[in-house]
Amino acid sequence: MDGTTLDELSETWNGIREDYRESDNSDYDRAVLDCAARLAADPGGDSAYVWTFGLVLMAPYLTWLPGLGVASQAVTALETADRALRGHSCTHDSHAYRSHEDEEDEYLAELLPVLADETADWEDDRPRSEWRCPLNAAGFARIALDIIDPGSVPDVPPRLPVAAADAISTLSALLHGYPKPWTDIDEEISSQASELSDADPADRAGRLMVVRAVTWYAVSGMVRTKSVLDDLAEAVEETLTHFADAGCAHDGHPALPGSGPEAVELGIELSSAGGRGLYERARIASGRNPALDRVVCPAYMAEIADETLTLLRRRRDELFGERDTSHADAEYLRADGRLDMGKLVERTDHKSWNEEYAEDLGLWAARRHAQSDARDRIVLLLVARQSMDNSYPSPPVSVVRDVLATMRAVAAAPLPAECPHEDEHPTLRYAEFRDAMAHFWAPEEFPPAEEIRTPESWTCPRFAAEVAEACVAELEHLDEEDRSVSSNAS
Ligand SMILES: [Zn+2]
Ligand SMILES: [Zn+2]
Ligand SMILES: [Zn+2]
Repeated sequence: MDGTTLDELSETWNGIREDYRESDNSDYDRAVLDCAARLAADPGGDSAYVWTFGLVLMAPYLTWLPGLGVASQAVTALETADRALRGHSCTHDSHAYRSHEDEEDEYLAELLPVLADETADWEDDRPRSEWRCPLNAAGFARIALDIIDPGSVPDVPPRLPVAAADAISTLSALLHGYPKPWTDIDEEISSQASELSDADPADRAGRLMVVRAVTWYAVSGMVRTKSVLDDLAEAVEETLTHFADAGCAHDGHPALPGSGPEAVELGIELSSAGGRGLYERARIASGRNPALDRVVCPAYMAEIADETLTLLRRRRDELFGERDTSHADAEYLRADGRLDMGKLVERTDHKSWNEEYAEDLGLWAARRHAQSDARDRIVLLLVARQSMDNSYPSPPVSVVRDVLATMRAVAAAPLPAECPHEDEHPTLRYAEFRDAMAHFWAPEEFPPAEEIRTPESWTCPRFAAEVAEACVAELEHLDEEDRSVSSNAS
């Protein structure tokens, strides 16, 4: 073979299999075209199995971005070979292709040289003749066609499409909190909404499960772009109409996975015919998994869509909408209408259990700031600032909007040229500052802290401006408007 041994060819083909994520790679294109030409030259011949195995190994690259016309030449050669080979008769009970799995593709590269060389040691359970049989070669030609265009041919073992396997790895990494460096998170999540909208009816349940899983991430506060949640909600709304009137005779439905990565894996698997075939095979083998019709039941999917939509709408309001903080009065004001300083000191402590209060508390304090007297004002400013620090993963747009407005107003207020007090401003670096703040606010109620500053130092406009400026610097990049401006400019 042009002085190239089968060893070398197998190695080249297997290298392409391993590093298939290439676009327009001329070496890869040449290897595919050579192999396809060999097969096309004698599609029913004795060595057809060599070239069909070669194309199985290189097929993943053809799902990526091969040069123009490369994939179609391979497809034509494979289809011709399948037709020429599958009509043969043989005496074998079975053929290797029937139980071949994608994890065994690499094995084809190992097998090829010893398969062709009658004198080489042979260790496979099946005899050489069975592997080289025209019917086996036809089966592998169809496997290659199924890799290139999933679902395009009958009589092949189930296999997850290459793109689906890629999607599982990209989305699992993202949902584990370690997105791949090239992942555009907003784009990746939004694209799952389009996948759901565009899904064929058979793939719709799986696609909905994927959206359900990415929704948990999207509503966690990690996504700061409202349109991503809009896209998801719109796709689920539309999906709900497909499932809306479905009824079923099932006596209950199996629980879907509760963790994002697991839910995504199941959803992607059930989003293709090959994946559903794998599910069914695993179900039969394990004897435990629930039957597919109960998992993807339209009545059940209507429930899932409804739950997902409710969550999306509620969190979209909380993250981007106009938040109602009136309930916080009852929590942070005493019966006499004064601030509940004990509670404020407790809830602004930089502890993880305060994360759940931080957003509403910070927003409430910022909104109350303008209508308060000088003594309350600095307390509310400090509470708002501290709450923004406590917010996790970061304060949402709905909170940042009003807190920034307050902070910017305070920072922009006219200042006296000099401080109206002799001592320094309170230090905020240490946790004790909150005790000092309480003592300043009500000296008769709260014991003096280690560091004591004059009341004039606490209420000094220059101190408030320092606090506000620092907070603006921290929050500015989280502001919705600023974000869209910068992304439009780029
Ligand atoms: Zn045979
Ligand atoms: Zn059902
Ligand atoms: Zn001052």
